[in-house]
Amino acid sequence: MVKYTLQYNRGDIMDTMIKAEGTSDTLNSTDRCDSCGSQAYVWTNGVSGDLLFCRHHFLKNEEKIRAWAFEIIDESYKANQK
Ligand SMILES: [Zn+2]
Repeated sequence: MVKYTLQYNRGDIMDTMIKAEGTSDTLNSTDRCDSCGSQAYVWTNGVSGDLLFCRHHFLKNEEKIRAWAFEIIDESYKANQK
């Protein structure tokens, strides 16, 4: 799991540490991109909720997503494991 934490809120730090240290994956094959419905490999959490993206849509919108999200979990490496 590759995790980017861009900004902490008080109270989120412990939660973030648990997620970062956990061995279970955040995303699975039933998670779908919110833009196109493909399998999602990137989970983002921003001020208005969480969004899922496939690699294509994450890369396409990466600048906007990074400006919006305070947590990004990128599991796109899994796309290369099949
Ligand atoms: Zn997509």
